[in-house]
Amino acid sequence: MERIGTETAFEAAARARALEATGRDVIHLELGEPDFDTPRNVSEAAARALLDDGATHYTPAAGIPSLREAIVADVRRWKGIEAKPEQVIVTPGAKPIMFYAMLALIDDGDEVIYPNPGFPIYESMARYVGGTPVAAPLREENDFRMDVEEVASLITPRTRMLVINTPHNPTGSILTGDDIRRLGQLAVEHDLVVLADEIYGRLQYEDKPLSIATLPGMAERTITLDGFSKTFAMTGWRLGYGVVPEALAPAFSTLVINSVSCTNAFAQAGAVEALTGPQDAADAMRAEFLARRSLIVDGLNAIPGVRCLMPHGAFYAFPNLSSFGRSSSQIADHLLYDAGVCGLAGTAFGEHGEGYVRFSYANSRENISRAVERIGESLAKLERTGELATAGSAH
Ligand code: PLP
Repeated sequence: MERIGTETAFEAAARARALEATGRDVIHLELGEPDFDTPRNVSEAAARALLDDGATHYTPAAGIPSLREAIVADVRRWKGIEAKPEQVIVTPGAKPIMFYAMLALIDDGDEVIYPNPGFPIYESMARYVGGTPVAAPLREENDFRMDVEEVASLITPRTRMLVINTPHNPTGSILTGDDIRRLGQLAVEHDLVVLADEIYGRLQYEDKPLSIATLPGMAERTITLDGFSKTFAMTGWRLGYGVVPEALAPAFSTLVINSVSCTNAFAQAGAVEALTGPQDAADAMRAEFLARRSLIVDGLNAIPGVRCLMPHGAFYAFPNLSSFGRSSSQIADHLLYDAGVCGLAGTAFGEHGEGYVRFSYANSRENISRAVERIGESLAKLERTGELATAGSAH
């Protein structure tokens, strides 16, 4: 357990709630989840399955056949991936796919190259299973894309896995088609497995996404991870999946059996509806995120001392606040306790997140505008007085 990490978003949310309990108004920009309700047709399909269709039993470990088939059709439509239903592993959330991939493939001392800043679970799990996480720094100068040359320089005979995430959490960056093709070539040359985290794939606002699994020689070495949490506002349902190489599917099923037996039966019925039913709700959420993106990014850039790149996907802004001369966790605390705005320190996503704070724009336009105003006032006050607000100074 000494080796495992965590996702501090859950802790930050708890601290924000504790502050709210003292009567303070807090605007929540820490959560990586859509603020919308799950589309009604999806909830109704799950309710029907639960109430009328007896979906109250165990299902096959890797998922019900109708969902695995719907996923095959969906990844063909959106990603251009050709897969068989047997390659689809349905899981409670997409996170277990990371867990199983590392458990199945990483031996003691195997190296895993992962984006840093990045989703904290890649590093945590790689280390937990006895592997060595190797950070590929994402830099603002490079639009927070992975630097392919640098990734090449990090590869050693012990490198086993490359993790990519596009669109990216926490920076909102995307990899270009050229980046992805070059990363694919590296994977083939060095016989690496790629864990392609495409959970924000439908929330890419520029360029057409390219799935690395579609490139020559990649289908047999790529685990494509996706799910329902972000696209369909279904975080609490716990529903995700991996499309895995045929040879790996039995291992993943065995890990499912050993850990959770299967994914919730009626939730899977809802997932079929999410993929095969009308897409208007998912499209409307995407359009709303796009509008909020400019609101928050323009608002942040108007604050003296703040610099924020335009994210190309997901629903996060990742402003550079290093000009205030404090650590990102001090700034995040200051903004929580002084401004009542909860974001996450960039370092919650790895050491290369120092200098940044992540704000999720999965919140109403009204709250985003209020938050930006309060952030501006609070940073101006910090500049003026040099005084950082902390948990102890909360009023
Ligand atoms: N991958 C990334 C990059 C994420 O940001 C998240 C959730 O925040 C996940 C995967 C996992 O999502 P879930 O387990 O809810 O499907």
